[in-house]
Amino acid sequence: MAGIFKKMLIAALLVYLPGQTMAWGMLGHRIVGQIADSYLNKKVKKEIRKILGNESIAMASNWPDFVKSDPSYKYLDNWHYVDFERGTSFAQMKSILEKDTSANAYTKLNFLIAELKKGSLSQEKNAMYLKLVIHIVGDLHQPYHVGYHDDRGGNDIKVTWFGSPTNMHTVWDSKIIEYQQLSYTEYAESINFTNPQQRKQIIEGGLVAWLWDSYQITETLYKDVKAGDKLFYRYNFDHVGTLNSQLLKGGVRLAEVLNEIFG
Ligand SMILES: [Zn+2]
Repeated sequence: MAGIFKKMLIAALLVYLPGQTMAWGMLGHRIVGQIADSYLNKKVKKEIRKILGNESIAMASNWPDFVKSDPSYKYLDNWHYVDFERGTSFAQMKSILEKDTSANAYTKLNFLIAELKKGSLSQEKNAMYLKLVIHIVGDLHQPYHVGYHDDRGGNDIKVTWFGSPTNMHTVWDSKIIEYQQLSYTEYAESINFTNPQQRKQIIEGGLVAWLWDSYQITETLYKDVKAGDKLFYRYNFDHVGTLNSQLLKGGVRLAEVLNEIFG
């Protein structure tokens, strides 16, 4: 019995163990997916159901993190984030992205959206590409996924969270979210309040504007913390509002992307 329990625990840890570029943890992606679901057009919901079957958007959202354990999906590792130099301006970011041909969250998201729009993919590819879109839009709202090259999106900023050693990337992937002690459905329900005017504002400008929005938040977060900091209640208190707003924007923008692809 104890042996089985230990194996289960190890399996759970392996799933949860934050890799260098692990995304929002499981909860973050599911919250974004759950919120997006509430803003989909009827026709789009139907199309997505044809592709995902009974799997909800929330539950499909984690697949790109799960497959990191399979070496044959190694090529997807760079698809979860896009890093910039410190002090990048909006104009610089725009021009970098326009010329960018490397594999990153921005270039691959554009690729996936274009492929899905064609409507001629095999069922298997449709499902894979859709899960990637759901996941990557979520990732781009975790501020440290639109961070700096030189510290690997906050992975090198070592801090403690309530006494346990971790790093800033992980604090934002999962620590603050888990600290709220809500399920993903409870979480989505507790923050998903928008009116059409606000949603219009959130989606304005498209992908480049969304990345710039995340990057600006990332810059303020970088200023707020240094290696060795001991984070406790106060960090949660100061930042949970930003976290929730990022999750909400992620959901609204994901719905926009899906409505555009399948509408
Ligand atoms: Zn990811």
